[in-house]
Amino acid sequence: MKVDLHIHSTYSDGSLPPAEIISLTTGKGLSIVGITDHDTGNHFPESIKEGEKSGMRVIPGVEFSTGFKDLEIHIIGYALDYRNRDLLVHLRRVRSRRLERAREILARLASKNIHIPASAPELAPENATIGRVLIARLLFNHGYVRTIEEAFDRYLGSNGTAFVPYELTDAHEVVGLIKKSGGVSVFAHPSRAELETAFDVLCEAGLEGIEAWRPAISRGLVNAIEKKASQHKLVLTGGSDWHHDGGRRNLGEFYVEKSRIADFLNLVEEKSRSRQEIR
Ligand code: AMP
Ligand code: MN
Ligand code: MN
Ligand code: MN
Repeated sequence: MKVDLHIHSTYSDGSLPPAEIISLTTGKGLSIVGITDHDTGNHFPESIKEGEKSGMRVIPGVEFSTGFKDLEIHIIGYALDYRNRDLLVHLRRVRSRRLERAREILARLASKNIHIPASAPELAPENATIGRVLIARLLFNHGYVRTIEEAFDRYLGSNGTAFVPYELTDAHEVVGLIKKSGGVSVFAHPSRAELETAFDVLCEAGLEGIEAWRPAISRGLVNAIEKKASQHKLVLTGGSDWHHDGGRRNLGEFYVEKSRIADFLNLVEEKSRSRQEIR
């Protein structure tokens, strides 16, 4: 059985809504998918409903952008209660920081004579996360760049001329928030540097899992992740981090075997059982 636990939908910066993700991956023989949008839980209802309709097992998650020292670390909270009050308060705060940053990016671009007349819904869609990809698309649509990649290289990436950092919530705090919301916290796409600097400390904060398998990762890094995970008794996950077709890999082409994520699935079950008992 094939699994991909890390996919983005139109509720953040992915190109397809959950229903289309599910039907495409079903067609490619996947039987479990994780839809994990950035800093929002708005995709949960549709993901759950479409999963039930199709027979695909869908495990929704929130991919949180967090700060650890000077690093930006991404942590996915799977199968959490997306209506948890503390979670909603956090996500509302993040949304306003993201909106502020988006406006600042537009101001920096304007100072370089790049004027993007962004309407409110283009920059801040009601149901989707506000992010740099939206601005990259606007730059593309207005003819300032030839590709989204170019928008990041020239303007929006950390070395771009309109890069604006914003205040990221501390990674420890986010691990705690995921626990409080009844979810499973997973360190997403760790680089070697992130593994070396952040992993042990995050384990102390209560981290429960780590993404070990993803497209184009080196064998050496996978080994290092597996070793550290087993020392700290963390569960392993894998996913493509898919956003759109036409990149490195199309949707459904990357997968891991279900047997590899058995411990993760058990933990998800355990958490959802204990949440139902509390209710
Ligand atoms: P944000 O969450 O607003 O900081 O935007 C980060 C998102 O931008 C990532 O999740 C990626 O989807 C996208 N991104 C980051 N770097 C690049 C890049 N070089 N090319 C294309 N997309 C990128
Ligand atoms: Mn993204
Ligand atoms: Mn990420
Ligand atoms: Mn991602």
